[in-house]
Amino acid sequence: MGKHLVLAGGGHAHMVTLANLNRFIDKGHNVTVIGPSPYHYYSGMGPGMLGGVYKPDEIRFATKHVVEKQGGVFLQDKVDHIGPEEKNIFLESGKTVPYDIISFNVGSYVPQLNVSDDNDNVFSVKPIEKLRQARVRILELISEKKAVIDVIGGGPASAEVAGNIWRIAKDHSKYMPTIRIFSGKRFMARFPDSIRKRAIKSLTNRSIEVLENSYAGEIKAGKIITESGQVYESDFIILALGVKPSPVFQKSGLPVGPDGGLLVNRYLQSTQYPDIFGGGDCICFKEQHLDKVGVYAVRENPILFENLMASSEGAELSTFIPGGDYLLIFNMGDDTGILKKKWLTFSGKTAFIIKDYIDRRFIKKFQSIE
Ligand SMILES: Cc1cc2nc3c(=O)[nH]c(=O)nc-3n(C[C@H](O)[C@H](O)[C@H](O)COP(=O)(O)OP(=O)(O)OC[C@H]3O[C@@H](n4cnc5c(N)ncnc54)[C@H](O)[C@@H]3O)c2cc1C
Repeated sequence: MGKHLVLAGGGHAHMVTLANLNRFIDKGHNVTVIGPSPYHYYSGMGPGMLGGVYKPDEIRFATKHVVEKQGGVFLQDKVDHIGPEEKNIFLESGKTVPYDIISFNVGSYVPQLNVSDDNDNVFSVKPIEKLRQARVRILELISEKKAVIDVIGGGPASAEVAGNIWRIAKDHSKYMPTIRIFSGKRFMARFPDSIRKRAIKSLTNRSIEVLENSYAGEIKAGKIITESGQVYESDFIILALGVKPSPVFQKSGLPVGPDGGLLVNRYLQSTQYPDIFGGGDCICFKEQHLDKVGVYAVRENPILFENLMASSEGAELSTFIPGGDYLLIFNMGDDTGILKKKWLTFSGKTAFIIKDYIDRRFIKKFQSIE
């Protein structure tokens, strides 16, 4: 008898499975995909969409359309939690969906600071689609006055976002805003000096201020209050404080890793429930630490697909091997990038051209299924 396979979230780790849904359906299985939006936005191009280099439809994948075209069911909803014993999924809308096999690719979220009032002018870097609204709001603000725009967080997302806010102003405004980064103790602290210094130089050369030793503690009525009590007036704030796995797993009482991500074995399968799988930012891979980067979600794709098929058909599971060092390129917003691969580091226009080529090729491959 056919099984009911449910994909919770249509993120980067489910792309290959989504592209091959008809293979499950041809074998007599039913497939349901649950996601909050008919589209999935590719995060690698998110800062470029904020800056205006890419249009929204250039960086998104039409999940709903692709699912329905192949005979699957798309539910526009969010998983709240699951009951792993009775194999039920409880959705935020209040509906319940039963499953035989479930795979999670529900991503991560940006932890919130203590924010009171002024929510229209406070955004997070995730979900990526919200950066569309952030762009519209920034355009309004900088056309009215010389605004102060702040990015809170000291990692690469913060560098890319600040650089791309500068891009919006350069292309569209007579008023160049003051752009500041509250970077915590040390900006880009987990990267070698060769990367850190290039990022700081790229930003400060464009008068973007990088404030080190400054932890934003609270946001209140257009003000950022640091943990040491300093108060900064601000017109617009983007939070880029790092990410945490979706809270779905802890709420479901599933085994999780130290960061709350679904604990999975080398088959990308829950360590306790063999019918639960997962990939991307929402998992904690038991065998080794994996950085929260799209690269791992992409590498997990084929194994997740193979194992969901094997599990549906009662065949043997394949092992996920994370692979070695990965290529990182940051989009600095001025048509330059900073590239790192093993010992190699360089920055400039060529680095951005390489990133743009890789990113466009990735998204086009999946958009072609549409
Ligand atoms: C600004 C920015 C730039 C980045 N740039 C890069 C880069 O250039 N290269 C790189 O390797 N990494 C980059 N990253 C990291 C990268 O975004 C993540 O590692 C990657 O998005 C993880 O993919 P994912 O599919 O696990 O999660 P996501 O991309 O977050 O996808 C999760 C999906 O699940 C859906 N979802 C969420 N909650 C639920 C729910 N409860 N129920 C159902 N569906 C749900 C979401 O709508 C979304 O479609 C960047 C991150 C940010 C914030």
